Amino acid sequence: MSASIFQLAIITILLSSPWANAQSSQSSQLSSSTSLSSLPPAPSVSFVSVNPTAVPLSRIGATEPASPTPTLASTPTSGSVPTFLPNAPPLPPLSSIVASKYPKLDTIPPIDSPEVQQWIAEVQASGIQIPSFSPTVAGGCPTNPQAATDPSRCWWTCGGCVRDTDISSCPTKDTWGLTYDDGPAYYTPNLLNYLDEHSLKSTFFVIGSRAASLPALLQSEYMAEHHISVHTWSHAAPLTTLSNEQIIAELGWCKKIIKDVLGVTPNTMRPPYGDIDDRVRAISLAMGLRPIMWTRISPAATFDTGDFSIHAGTISAAQVLLNWQYILGNASTLNTGFIVLEHDLFQQSVEIATGYILPDALARTSPKLTLQPVITCLNQPLGNAYIETNDNTTNPPPVTIRPSSKCSNLSHATFTTKTYAGVGTGHSSGRPTATGATGNNGNTTGGNQSGGASSLQSLPDMVIFVLLSLIAGLAVVF
Ligand SMILES: [Zn+2]
Repeated sequence: MSASIFQLAIITILLSSPWANAQSSQSSQLSSSTSLSSLPPAPSVSFVSVNPTAVPLSRIGATEPASPTPTLASTPTSGSVPTFLPNAPPLPPLSSIVASKYPKLDTIPPIDSPEVQQWIAEVQASGIQIPSFSPTVAGGCPTNPQAATDPSRCWWTCGGCVRDTDISSCPTKDTWGLTYDDGPAYYTPNLLNYLDEHSLKSTFFVIGSRAASLPALLQSEYMAEHHISVHTWSHAAPLTTLSNEQIIAELGWCKKIIKDVLGVTPNTMRPPYGDIDDRVRAISLAMGLRPIMWTRISPAATFDTGDFSIHAGTISAAQVLLNWQYILGNASTLNTGFIVLEHDLFQQSVEIATGYILPDALARTSPKLTLQPVITCLNQPLGNAYIETNDNTTNPPPVTIRPSSKCSNLSHATFTTKTYAGVGTGHSSGRPTATGATGNNGNTTGGNQSGGASSLQSLPDMVIFVLLSLIAGLAVVF
């Protein structure tokens, strides 16, 4: 039996048979329930510590009423100087952010604007060669079998292929590169307040059009010394499905709004759904953006908590916590640190983070975890995270994708029954409107990017996994 088939079997079993955490110091047992009858029975999960003010697990779900929108204890004032960043400019005035000057919310920007035409010219002049292969079609690996099995694409979605230019882990064992995606959003202040109370810093992958809607919140993130990174303008479609020009527009507008709001421009990005191949990589690098993924230990298992899907009712809060325990178990087998996918878009994911996952992580002593933004876990100063403050001495921008780069090292990972249940994940692009509370009104009609397939080092495994995904219905059609 191929390794992929074996891993898939393990993971499927684990969905109803939680991995027994070996931690002996657990003091809190949570056996949750959910009102979502369509979901599997809620598993019992164990935690070292839970926030005393946590929302009860049984209440965190798709039918949960919206809580009052939180506020921050303080907000930065225009002109403030970010003294923590040498050579950073003062904070721009919010009055300079006029929404009508930017593309529409949650919409792929047009490519005929002067700005996008300028960025296209800059990419062409960068000297970085953009691969000529065609965009993928909607549907992910199952609907793109040729692309999925083409090693020259190095398509992360279908097998986890990475290049040396991708950042997908922290180098130091037991170090967690903390990341939150898809904000700024209405419950982001709750997360910021928690992080501040515990002197934690995180990386935030920002959706540009959301930043245009909530610029003050982005300034608060930045001035609290969090690491701000690019997550496209609209998040409306997986990047491999877009034309070169559309990818440039998505990344360019996100860079621009962050620069306009903060005065600095990130030099890293995370592709929505983790959907990246060598074409997207080349364009990103040509625009000065290095990809940051999340840790993946097998063709089918990534360090994705699944927290995004609580809002849509396709996963229970308890299952997300179980995923977190699997992630911890798998992280303990790695020689490096790790990066986990979480979100600050919805109330539910913020409640899970601040009520359960973060308190648990902070309370663990065997081993003790170090929680850091990705730039910090890479042993880089925060100034190296922005084009204007990076002096390029210790963090020179990658100039090309080396053909000799590894195409996934997943076959070297250790697979045990600890493999967590993050199978074929990805998330719906459904998100709340900019003018409404997050509550439960986010539509779920957007694109899902199907997740795991097999390592591109083993093409027969790849084909088998794609077929299995089709048969088992694990690949979510977007
Ligand atoms: Zn995202």
